Amino acid sequence: MQKLEKVLIANRGEIALRILRACKEMGIKTVAVYSTADRDLMHLGLADETVCIGPAPGAQSYLSIPAIISAAEVTGATAIHPGYGFLAENADFAEQVEKSGFAFIGPTADVIRLMGDKVSAKDAMIKSGVPVVPGSAGPLPEDEDEALRIAREVGYPVIIKAAGGGGGRGMRVVHKEEDLIKSAKLTRTEAGAAFGNPMVYLEKFLGNPRHVEVQVLSDGQGNAIHLYDRDCSLQRRHQKVLEEAPAPLLDEKARAEVLQRCVDACVEIGYRGAGTFEFLYEDGRFYFIEMNTRVQVEHPVTEMVTGVDIVKEMLSIAAGNKLSIKQEDVKILGHSLECRINAEDPDNFMPCPGKVKHFHAPGGNGIRVDSHLYSGYSVPPNYDSLIGKLISYGRTRDEAMARMRNALEEIVVDGIKTNIPLHRDLTRDKGFLKGGVNIHYLEKKLGMDKH
Ligand code: ADP
Repeated sequence: MQKLEKVLIANRGEIALRILRACKEMGIKTVAVYSTADRDLMHLGLADETVCIGPAPGAQSYLSIPAIISAAEVTGATAIHPGYGFLAENADFAEQVEKSGFAFIGPTADVIRLMGDKVSAKDAMIKSGVPVVPGSAGPLPEDEDEALRIAREVGYPVIIKAAGGGGGRGMRVVHKEEDLIKSAKLTRTEAGAAFGNPMVYLEKFLGNPRHVEVQVLSDGQGNAIHLYDRDCSLQRRHQKVLEEAPAPLLDEKARAEVLQRCVDACVEIGYRGAGTFEFLYEDGRFYFIEMNTRVQVEHPVTEMVTGVDIVKEMLSIAAGNKLSIKQEDVKILGHSLECRINAEDPDNFMPCPGKVKHFHAPGGNGIRVDSHLYSGYSVPPNYDSLIGKLISYGRTRDEAMARMRNALEEIVVDGIKTNIPLHRDLTRDKGFLKGGVNIHYLEKKLGMDKH
């Protein structure tokens, strides 16, 4: 077994702590970096070394490639873990990390680039037999007659999406033919301004899909496995709120097929590290929408039901080892739920940074808390409002749900507003308790769905 020597964690908050814990467990030295707004982050006190990389604004610290590479150089780090968000899916960053002589804990820059462009990603999926949403083969042509012909063939409603889009932006639904050309032009202009790439493509718009995703691990040496699926349909403004593994009530045949296709695709594209294939799932069918080439916020639910430590596997793969687990050894046992705890007003969802006067973490059988909170910690206003994740495990979905309800009653976060009341409500919601709700369910419940 080869081992990384010293890992620089190019992130903050709960995921920085998560990565640090995995490194410590494996006997790997750690370097924590932080902005001046983050001097009180919990993992700084646990890291072997710390480096301030700049002022509070992300652009000058966690998104600054030179600042992070310099920190790796001065501390003698041998590898960099990007976490999620910030530079995690930035191909230029991955490239510069490797060119500077450090291991990038993730896929190669070429693969990040391939998957970062949604048109080339979709193309690669089609080649590997992964099912995609029917639509234009490649970009939507500028030629108006051609574009109209393609849309007619796909059938309305359709959705026009930016090749370089992300974060739920750069998309437009078109219900009737007379709106197509105007909408395509508008989306192109917006995409050019927002993502520096005006290319758009067209897909069938699915009315009531669920969000189901597949977790994979691949060593870049020809070996890949899947760790089954997660359901992340409870979303608000395309942001996931509560996730679970496995995804309930799937068509078993379609599921087995898609899991195998994801594994094949990893081998085909030479994927290295942990990754997620995201699908829309409707009427028993899967439709690929995008691949995330990094560790995801919701990875713990998969860890709970498979017993595989995804972050440790990432560290092992980056050291050059082959996958330590075989597909036949991955078994799902039980069910897991994750509530994302955000520092936000439960009524209007506005971020609510500030000082946490008192924090009490829940516990008990089957409860895991991934959070950097402690009593007296001040949540800075500069970053994402995620302050922790409450994860439950049970032999059945009902048991996981009951344990989550208990944990949500026990948890105390005093001094700032959080979305804990929303989670208390959701874990008692009849529709959600049945399982298999679609991506519009939460917004409908909150009275904000426009469909
Ligand atoms: P992003 O990278 O911006 O998150 P995605 O391609 O993952 O973009 O799509 C984000 C969300 O947009 C999906 O979770 C889904 O809610 C909606 N969406 C995307 N494509 C379609 C489609 N073809 N039909 C219906 N909804 C879609």
